[in-house]
Amino acid sequence: MIPYGRQDIDEDDVAAVVAALRSDFITQGPAIDAFEAAVARYVGAPHAVAVCNATAALHVAYLSLGLSAGDRLWTVPNTFVATANAARFCGAEVDFVDIAGDTYLMDVEALAGKLAQARRHGRLPKVVAPVHFAGQSCDMRAIRALADDYGFKIVEDAAHAIGADYLDGKVGDCRFSDLCVFSFHPVKIVTTGEGGIVTTKDPALAKRLGELRSHGTTRDPSRMDGPSEGPWYYQQIELGLNYRMTDLQAALGASQMKRIDAFVARRRALAARYDEALATLPLVLPAQNPDGRSAFHLYPIQLRLETIGRTRREIFDRLRAAGIGVNVHYIPVHLQPYYRRRGFKPGDFPQSERYYERAISIPLFAAMTDSEQSEVVARLSETLLAQAA
Ligand SMILES: *Cc1c(COP(=O)(O)O)cnc(C)c1O
Repeated sequence: MIPYGRQDIDEDDVAAVVAALRSDFITQGPAIDAFEAAVARYVGAPHAVAVCNATAALHVAYLSLGLSAGDRLWTVPNTFVATANAARFCGAEVDFVDIAGDTYLMDVEALAGKLAQARRHGRLPKVVAPVHFAGQSCDMRAIRALADDYGFKIVEDAAHAIGADYLDGKVGDCRFSDLCVFSFHPVKIVTTGEGGIVTTKDPALAKRLGELRSHGTTRDPSRMDGPSEGPWYYQQIELGLNYRMTDLQAALGASQMKRIDAFVARRRALAARYDEALATLPLVLPAQNPDGRSAFHLYPIQLRLETIGRTRREIFDRLRAAGIGVNVHYIPVHLQPYYRRRGFKPGDFPQSERYYERAISIPLFAAMTDSEQSEVVARLSETLLAQAA
């Protein structure tokens, strides 16, 4: 089976983890600082705080902005459940903004309309979390303009988008946002096994994120109530968590970051080859926003089901049976039973629902060979054209 995504680990990565294992620190050591510095430098943000996964990163990001019970967070239905769930961990209510039908990213017009209505009802969100789906940046300039008007904070869910470009910078530099979150799960672009990071321009937020990942404790006298009692002394100044990344993970991450440009270049080359090879099939290929350049975590295709004359399920099953590890991203979050119980229902976000019903993600990962890609194209063509006949 050719998977839809997988990690690319080389001998340098293995050596980096072994070296960390033999070092004095396997957690809370210097490998964390080195990894944070490597990511911060690469994306062009002054601060980066590494944690145990991106779900934890979203949680501490939202907490650091003060998101709590009585507040609202808005995201899109076309995301992994973690983007929404992390707001529920904070006790906040979650609501959604539909996606645009062409890019599958947050629809800025829909956001503007929903904000105007929310202002009239006194129900504005405290935080909006746009998702850079498949590796392509949302229209952050427009979302920033709305944030300035309506006073919400912005957390970018960039789990798919390390290495992506937007306007004149990298996703993660936080030019248009308060915080940006990346994931290092093995299917993502860079991996630490499990891992996540939050980047920011704001030193106070960075400090608070560092405290929140480590039980809400500090050793900084300027953050304490009263004086320090000595070199052993720390204070717990708020309720935090143990969301620390280990030095083994950070050492792997720092080693992987040396190859990020090659990973992204390979993904872009594979995506360009799919664009060409699939152009005449009964598909809608992913539309690209001219303001940026996707890092291509995913290559999501839309099946023209009316032309094909069969269901998405039949095509999916045939591809899997032919050894093509297709997947579907994403089941609209508002249709999950947990969110239906909170009042959402089919029809609430029609673009996300329509997109989901036709969506398949085909294999795309840096270590994919040309012949594996040719195999995907051949099996997909065969399956779609057989269906159409
Ligand atoms: C993978 C992913 C997450 C969660 O990342 P973990 O590191 O697995 O916790 C969050 N949001 C999106 C969009 C993702 O794809």
